[in-house]
This record gives sequence, C-alpha cells and structure tokens, in this order.
Amino acid sequence: MKIIIIGGIAAGMSAAAKAKRVSEDAEIVVYEMGDIISFGACGLPYYVGDFFQNPNWMIARKVERMIDEGVDVRVNHQVLSVDSDLKSVKVKRLETDEVFEEKYDKLMIATGANVVMPPFENIGLNNIFTLSKMSDGMGLKEKAMSDEVKDVTIIGAGFIGVEVVEAMKKLGKHVRLIQRGNRVFNRIFDERITELMHQEFLDHDVELVLNEGVQGFEGQDKVQKVKTDKGVYETDLVVIATGFKPNTDFLEGSNIKMLKNGAIIVNRQGETNIQDIYSAGDCATVPHMIDNEDVYIPLATGANKLGRVVGENMAGGKTEYPGSLGSACVKVMDYEAAVTGLNEEQAKSRGIECSNVFVKDKNQAGYYPNQEDIYIKLVYEKDSKVIIGGETLGKNGAALRIDVIAMAIKAKMTTEDLGMMDFCYSPPISKTWDALNVAGNVAK
Ligand SMILES: Cc1cc2nc3c(=O)[nH]c(=O)nc-3n(C[C@H](O)[C@H](O)[C@H](O)COP(=O)(O)OP(=O)(O)OC[C@H]3O[C@@H](n4cnc5c(N)ncnc54)[C@H](O)[C@@H]3O)c2cc1C
Repeated sequence: MKIIIIGGIAAGMSAAAKAKRVSEDAEIVVYEMGDIISFGACGLPYYVGDFFQNPNWMIARKVERMIDEGVDVRVNHQVLSVDSDLKSVKVKRLETDEVFEEKYDKLMIATGANVVMPPFENIGLNNIFTLSKMSDGMGLKEKAMSDEVKDVTIIGAGFIGVEVVEAMKKLGKHVRLIQRGNRVFNRIFDERITELMHQEFLDHDVELVLNEGVQGFEGQDKVQKVKTDKGVYETDLVVIATGFKPNTDFLEGSNIKMLKNGAIIVNRQGETNIQDIYSAGDCATVPHMIDNEDVYIPLATGANKLGRVVGENMAGGKTEYPGSLGSACVKVMDYEAAVTGLNEEQAKSRGIECSNVFVKDKNQAGYYPNQEDIYIKLVYEKDSKVIIGGETLGKNGAALRIDVIAMAIKAKMTTEDLGMMDFCYSPPISKTWDALNVAGNVAK
C-alpha cells in the first residue's frame, strides 16, 4: 500500500503520523514544496511581536524525526499535477528541476491556502508584508524591530490582522488598522462585541480606520504612504491580512469537485468525489456539525483533526470526523474573544428560525481581586431552545467558556439545560451561578 501526501504541515503531517501508527507496513511519502514540515503558523504574530525569539519553536516535528518513524518526507518537492486515471502524481524536485512521476494507491491533498494579494497599486514596494510562512515572519520581524519603523499599517481586521496589531504595539509602534467594513471581524462577531473591541483599540491608542478601502501605496523604494478611497496615511511598514484562497489551482482538469473558492469538497471520512483521493485542511471544506453543509473554515483545529481521520482511513481504517463548528478564539489587546456555531445570519440562510440572548456578567466573585466583565451571547432555535451558536468576550476566562457552548451544541442541549448545568465554583475562579448559567436562564 503506497500513500502519497501532498503538503507537510498540519493536515498532511497529522495524516502521515496517524497512517503510520495504524499501518506500520504502509509506504508513506510526503511531498512538501517548502523546506520545513509541521510548522505552526498560528505562532507567527507572537514571534513577530517578540513574545518569543526562536522561530524553530513553531515547528512541531522535524523531518529527521518523521523519517526515523518510517515516513518518507521529501521537502523541496512540488507536486505539479495529479492524474486520477493513472493514479499518479507529477513531481518537481525544486533543487534540480528534475520532474518525475510516482504512483499511489491512496492520495491526500493537503496543500493549504495561499494569501490573496489584492490588486493594490505599487504592492511590490519594500516593507509591504503578508504573514503566512516562516520566512514571512522572519522578514517582517527583522524590519519591524528596527527603530526606523515607527508607524505600521495593518490592512484587514480579521483574526490575523488583529493579532498583528497586538504584536506591533508590543514592539512600541504606532499602529493603524484599516478595515473596509464598518467593524472589525466583519460579521463574525455580534455588533455589541465589536463595539467593545473598537473601544479596546482606542484605549490602547490603536488608530482604527473603518469604512475605508485601500487603493494602493506610494514610496520611492519602500512604502511611505497608504492611499485609501478617503485619505492618505504616512507609514513605514504595511502588513496585508485580507484573506486566503485554497491552494488547488494545480488540480485544474482533475475533476475533483470544489466549492466556488477552490476548496476541495470532502465528506466526513475526508474523501473527495474521486476514489482513493482524500483531502483536509485549508485547501478543503469541512462538513458543518449542525447540518453537514460543506463549509470553508480554514483553521488549524479542523486541519489537524480531519487530517488524522484521513490518515486512519487511508491506512485501512474507517472513521468519521464529527464536523466543525468553526470554534475560534482571538486576543484583542487585553480582551479575549471567541465564537462557535451559527450566528443569526448563518442560521437564517439555512432556514433555521432562531433567537438570541446577550448577557453582561462577571467572571468571578467581586470580593476577590481583579473581577472582570464577561459578555456571553447564545444563539438558539426559537421553538426547541436548542443551542446552535455562541460568542464570548472578556478579560479573564472568557474565551475558553466557548468550548462549553461548543459541547452544548454537539450534545444538542437547550438553554434550560445550560441554565442548570452543574459548573464548578470557587470565588477567585467563577460565581455560584456561572455566567454561562445566567445566559441559559435569561434566554426566553
Ligand atoms: C498568521 C497565522 C495565524 C494563525 N492562527 C491560527 C490560530 O490561532 N488558530 C487556528 O486554528 N488557526 C490559525 N491559523 C490557520 C492555520 O495555520 C491553518 O489552518 C493551518 O496551517 C492549515 O494547515 P494545512 O496543513 O491545511 O495547510 P498549510 O499550513 O498551508 O500547509 C500546506 C503545505 O502544503 C505545501 N504545498 C502547497 N502546494 C504544494 C504542492 N503543489 N506540492 C507540495 N507541497 C505543496 C505548502 O508549502 C505548505 O507547507 C493561522 C494562520 C496564520 C497564517
């Protein structure tokens, strides 16, 4: 049995490691076009912000270790195309330009996503960065740490843009965050939550520029100005964080079914529509846990889990991924925020009639120092009161409460169940009625 995996980061290496554990005899070859594997891009903003210094700490598994474990990892090898009739891939060895073909019994596509470069004028000027690869992070950090860089502009207020804001503030820069829409995170978080985030940015002297679309840049050799449809801003460095696109262009003509954005459609076993071809991670869809819809949620969490399912299935097992809820969390300066499941807009588009409740409560007892506000939103089916989504925000203990809501969704719990759930209590940690109990009880 020969398994070929294209892409050696989260999804690909989770699959390789699991397949080897399930079937020691399987021959597993991983083709990775970069020169490292198992790299956790999630650490990049914190590396750039100098929260830690050694970039190798973002690498979970080294090539040598995987080879020792019996996985044939070939870095600096790019797969150029897939022939599903011949069950073969065409590979280019990047160091020599040699091209060869190799046959597979099972194939996994785990090629991730590429940064979408908007058509901004003069985008090739120096000091304009994106953040996705280790080399991006190293180049950005080197420039950002220089005293010559005083003013940083971040374009795009999604998860990565917001994390880079914190990084640049930590380096002592003046930070401007430009967002085309009228609030950060577009419509991922409730307006009441994004309002609190906006205030948090203002409190930390972050220049928040909303409702402006960037058109391009000006500068001699390096960027000096950012031009939007409403103004011009002087700046020393720009980070573009406007989104990703599945890296699947090389599969053109392969008949593998994809969403409009190029994400490969897979089922709960990680299978594509072509026999013996699997996929997972940022290049693929995930089935939504609530209704099985094929959705694009490019997160490390799903990449690792569905990757592991694919590894097991390619090696002869039969297992299923339970589906994703899009659970995600982020630090917004001193706040932590998290989201899971469906919001009202997503529920409506699926024909689910829903209600919501939004509560402001406290994270712990008041007499113990450092009590903080905590905000919880629950979205639930109108008639049955079954919980289908949630959001949290606060400064201490808020984000991980989303995991409770995620479990409640999976267990199809009602708001009433949550209201009476036996959560733990001790004054420095929580309250006798936890904020989650309160949210469940307030829901009508
Ligand atoms: C800055 C940043 C912060 C993030 N923070 C978080 C976070 O906090 N939480 C979270 O859940 N997620 C986060 N993510 C997302 C997370 O990193 C991704 O979901 C995860 O890396 C996806 O893993 P993957 O294996 O699908 O793809 P990737 O990590 O993109 O890996 C795909 C690999 O395939 C290789 N490849 C592509 N094409 C070919 C080819 N033709 N031949 C050979 N090799 C190929 C690429 O070189 C690449 O190494 C973050 C991402 C970034 C960029």
